[in-house]
Amino acid sequence: MPGSESGKQGVVVRIDPRRCIANAKCTTAAPGIYVLDEETGVAVLENEADATLQQLFAGARACPTQAITIEQFGRRVFPQILTPMFGVDDPDTGSGSN
Ligand code: SF4
Repeated sequence: MPGSESGKQGVVVRIDPRRCIANAKCTTAAPGIYVLDEETGVAVLENEADATLQQLFAGARACPTQAITIEQFGRRVFPQILTPMFGVDDPDTGSGSN
């Protein structure tokens, strides 16, 4: 067997807790795979070994802040463009009050 961390074609999922705004989009997209950590409140991977690639990508795509990145063989494959992180930024520009 080729040596890969997850055994899924060299795919490694990372969740950046600084980007996570805990809106649970990923946990809705892939329940039981992405879960919100009870202590920290941010998303974590729970059953990575059981997750399908589709589930991993579904959760990553659902994340509005790009907190979830997916690497394959050491190269980021999602998102293809990772926008810079600003201190406190409103990801929902223009859809607030009125
Ligand atoms: S979708 Fe992104 S921001 Fe929302 S809980 Fe998951 S990782 Fe955090």
